[in-house]
Amino acid sequence: MNKTDDKSDSVDIGCLQAIDALYAYLDGELDDPASVTSFEHHMQHCRSCYSRAEIEGLLTARLRETARSQAPEALQARLRKLMDDF
Ligand SMILES: [Zn+2]
Repeated sequence: MNKTDDKSDSVDIGCLQAIDALYAYLDGELDDPASVTSFEHHMQHCRSCYSRAEIEGLLTARLRETARSQAPEALQARLRKLMDDF
């Protein structure tokens, strides 16, 4: 069994881990360079996660601004649901 696809030294972490890493990334908690590399590697070839990361990034920035004045939990719940359906 010889796989000839481009197998670099970085192994794809898969969508589930990528999304996991995404939240850590957005929270500034992804400080392990290897994790950041794996995360970015996945984003480069997974359109689904990339789109999600873009949207999450925008939402997170907005939520942070809003959260400074008040914490709209209902709004966050709605956004989470939106993301799940995405
Ligand atoms: Zn993915």
